[in-house]
Amino acid sequence: MSDPQNIKRRGLMLVLSSPSGAGKSTISRELLDREPELTMSVSATTRPPRPGEEEGKDYFFITKDNFHDMVGKDEFLEHATVFDNSYGTPRGPVEAALADGKDVLFDVDWQGTQQLRGRAPADLVRIFILPPSKDELERRLYARAQDPEEVIKKRMDKAATEMGHYDEYDYIVVNNVVKDSVAEVQAILIAERLKKDRREGLYDFVRELCGHEDAEV
Ligand code: 5GP
Repeated sequence: MSDPQNIKRRGLMLVLSSPSGAGKSTISRELLDREPELTMSVSATTRPPRPGEEEGKDYFFITKDNFHDMVGKDEFLEHATVFDNSYGTPRGPVEAALADGKDVLFDVDWQGTQQLRGRAPADLVRIFILPPSKDELERRLYARAQDPEEVIKKRMDKAATEMGHYDEYDYIVVNNVVKDSVAEVQAILIAERLKKDRREGLYDFVRELCGHEDAEV
C-alpha cells in the first residue's frame, strides 16, 4: 500500500526468521507479490542449490573462496554459518534499494538479525515465524523431501535452538493458515511504514497543512 499523500519516508528493513519448515518462504513469496515497494535481498551461500532453486533469484551460489573474499572486502552487511554452510547478505543491492525509498525483505537467521540490528537499529523490523506445533513442523520438514534424512534430523535439532531466540524479535507470527500469516505480516509492514520517525517528509507536510511556511509544528 503506498501513501496517497506521498510523504517522503525512509525505506525499512523487514526481517523474517524462523526454523526451517515453518513456512517462511511461502509467506515471503506471497508478500512480495502483494507489495510492489518491497524488494527481496538475495543472499550469497556456499551450499549447493536444491532442485528448483535459481541462481540470483533464490541465492547467489558461490564457492567458499569467493565467500571469504567477500568477507575480507566487507561486502556483506551480515554473514553467518548455518548448518556447516556460510550465508551472507550482499551490501550493495540493499543500500541501493533503501536509498531508492524501497523496503527490503531479509530471510536471515537469528545471527544475521543480530548483526543487522547492530548496524541499523532504527530501520529494522524483526518478525519471527513459528510453526503451529512440533508435529506440524516435523510433518513440513518431511513433506519437503528435498534433503537427505540426516540433514532433516539436524534441522529438527537446530529448530529448537533457533526458536529459543524468538524473544529477540519485535513480532511473532504463528503460521497456522498461510493466508492469515501473510495478512498479519502485511499489516505489520503497513503499520511500520506509518511510524512517525520513518516519515521524513511529515514536517513539511504538516507545515503546508497549517497554511503557512513558518508555522510551529
Ligand atoms: P536454507 O539453506 O534452508 O535456504 O537456509 C538455512 C538458514 O539460513 C535459514 O534459517 C535462513 O534464514 C538462513 N539464511 C539464509 N540466507 C542468510 C543470510 O544471508 N544470512 C544469514 N545470517 N542467514 C541466512
